Amino acid sequence: MAVAQTTATLETAETQLRFEAGPNAPRLSSLQNGTLAWKNRAAETLIPAAEIAGRSVPVEWKFNPAASHTDKSLVRFVYDAASPHLRLTWEWQVRSGHGPIEHQIRIENRDSPEVWLPLENSFVFDWQTSAQDKLEQFYVEKGADTPSAAGTHLVSVHDGYEWEGTSSTYAHPRSGEAREIIPYFLVERADGAQSGWYVGIEFSGRTHLTLARKGESLHGEVGLNPNPGPFRTRLKPGEVFETPRMFVGATSGGPDATANVLRRWVRDVLTNQDAWKDPHYPLAVNNSWGGGMAVNEEIALRMIRDSAELGLEMFHIDAGWFRGVGDWYPDPKKFPHGLQPIADDAHARGLKFGLWVDWTQAALDTEPGALNIRDPEVRGWLTTDLPAAWKPEEFKGQTIDIGAPKAKAWALRETDRIVTDYKLDMLEHDGYLVAQGCDASDHPHAAPDPLNKCTYRDAGSIFVRSSNSTDVSYYAARAYYDVQSNLHRQHPGLLLEICNDGGRMIDFGSAAHGDYFSITDTYDPLSNRRAFYDTSFVLPTAMLETYVERWPAPEIENFRYMLRSGMMGWLTIMLDTTAWDEQQHAAAKEEFQLYKSQLRPLIRDANLYHISERPDGVRWDGMEYFDPQTRRGVVYAFHGSIETEAEHKFFLRGLQAASRYQLRFHDHSASDQIVAGDELMKTGLGVRLPFANSSEIIFLEELPAQTPSSQAAAKGGPA
Ligand SMILES: [Zn+2]
Repeated sequence: MAVAQTTATLETAETQLRFEAGPNAPRLSSLQNGTLAWKNRAAETLIPAAEIAGRSVPVEWKFNPAASHTDKSLVRFVYDAASPHLRLTWEWQVRSGHGPIEHQIRIENRDSPEVWLPLENSFVFDWQTSAQDKLEQFYVEKGADTPSAAGTHLVSVHDGYEWEGTSSTYAHPRSGEAREIIPYFLVERADGAQSGWYVGIEFSGRTHLTLARKGESLHGEVGLNPNPGPFRTRLKPGEVFETPRMFVGATSGGPDATANVLRRWVRDVLTNQDAWKDPHYPLAVNNSWGGGMAVNEEIALRMIRDSAELGLEMFHIDAGWFRGVGDWYPDPKKFPHGLQPIADDAHARGLKFGLWVDWTQAALDTEPGALNIRDPEVRGWLTTDLPAAWKPEEFKGQTIDIGAPKAKAWALRETDRIVTDYKLDMLEHDGYLVAQGCDASDHPHAAPDPLNKCTYRDAGSIFVRSSNSTDVSYYAARAYYDVQSNLHRQHPGLLLEICNDGGRMIDFGSAAHGDYFSITDTYDPLSNRRAFYDTSFVLPTAMLETYVERWPAPEIENFRYMLRSGMMGWLTIMLDTTAWDEQQHAAAKEEFQLYKSQLRPLIRDANLYHISERPDGVRWDGMEYFDPQTRRGVVYAFHGSIETEAEHKFFLRGLQAASRYQLRFHDHSASDQIVAGDELMKTGLGVRLPFANSSEIIFLEELPAQTPSSQAAAKGGPA
């Protein structure tokens, strides 16, 4: 083991962090990208007190150099408290040569009594700034429910600025509440170099990030959401409390340049590598929700035939297949032979088989195996007592608290049974898996404060909010991760779709425990493009699923526009393909082939550039992928509803100014041509589309540099 020092450095290609171990607290002292440094004046605030048997006891932390460790990829500074006997491990880790550096604090109870801890932040910062520094903050919302009119925010950070962003698995845009963000933001200098830094949280429980500027101070905190407080969490003897793991990175070049590093880092460091090993990832999928709850054996078998014929790769049964909420067995009236013949038929036709389940929901079914709220044991797992007249909705019941050990054990068994019995290649979870608050006093989390508690009803569920909400989410999110990890471990190759009521659980913790996200619950072309525009600033685009639903498409151009609005990330259609006419059928088949053969390799590996304003459905918008390895790229061009602007110029990025590019207009809206990189970036790529709500796909290929002899050959001169 290397000798511990009181200072240490960690670095990746973009980020250099310096650390100091003070006698009573450690700190990140500076963050640097190239020559520009951000100096941090804040020491990490280590909890100053704990609670034992109802009494507050001061905690005095002392650096323990012997237990500390530093090397090229890890800095671990250990602080001990004598009474109560606690050990705090402050750790930073490099897991990739590129991208951000991760951080976590762990507090272990080495004493014999149970100890209650107040909130320990994941990270606090107080960067020194000067009044001349023009700063901007960049952050994006979750596409939960419907993407808002804004979605992506770039705001000036002036003196007196105060901001808070929150994330949970709820993301309810309830009245008076701000929309939730993907727990991430970027701060950059508003100058040409756009040098800055970014932070993100790898946790799906209730978290927040703050940013404020006052005088020479740019400060904030990152971690569990302290509100509604006061937060307290139990630590039994031998137990360890872990702050949500977070990351911080230095950057320059703005949101796209940052995202092109961050997305790759998320893919390499956080995500399930098994999924990426399949060259067909992200898949082209047919989902049954186009017909809603009405799915049955006959419809499913017909959809499988049509999916195979269309070249789709997975058949996905959405809600409607089960006996009842919490009763995850096939409805015998709809599926008299169960789901196995469906799975077998899909497999026989070369398709994967996926299934929707809302596996934390309990309801009233009494069949064996059903999660029944009146069962005395299940009742103990609920987040609140339900009135006698309570009834579930069609596919929503009451969330159990999987943070309770027996409820979690049930979820581990039940999800494993579902995957095994129904021969699943993909399990989609929907609904709220992480309880928002909980009344129970015999679960591991803190009990609620009866004087500071509210309950409300929404779509079949009763929710509790109290001082213990964050602690409840701390336990439940970790249990959720254990269930997801167990499925990946038991069923190699199994894909896990994170739906959670469409786009409410988009964060880096779930990215590490699932394979793709439903990024919004609204599926028209504009909502799909908006949700993609926002989310693609943060997460790998292969993981970003947009469901394509039926949308008025009088012309074939409108039909392609509808499909392509969902073809920039993971493609799932939610359409009755048997209602298509012959022309639409042929066009769709061609689009799916295009997706699989030419678009998918770029979605997996290429850099992404947001080459327009955020889509508004009226003006033009577009996206560019370009892969510097293969020197190929694509531009998705969308012409909104405005009729008067028949031509639009997209200013491309990420190209070589001196190189020449072969352009191929897939729909032949223009003839193929060779254009200089310089021109594509400065004068722009002109796209001409006469129809409203239409699209074009333009492929780019960088041509090899011309040598004098090849130039001569091209001119037909002497060899
Ligand atoms: Zn509970």
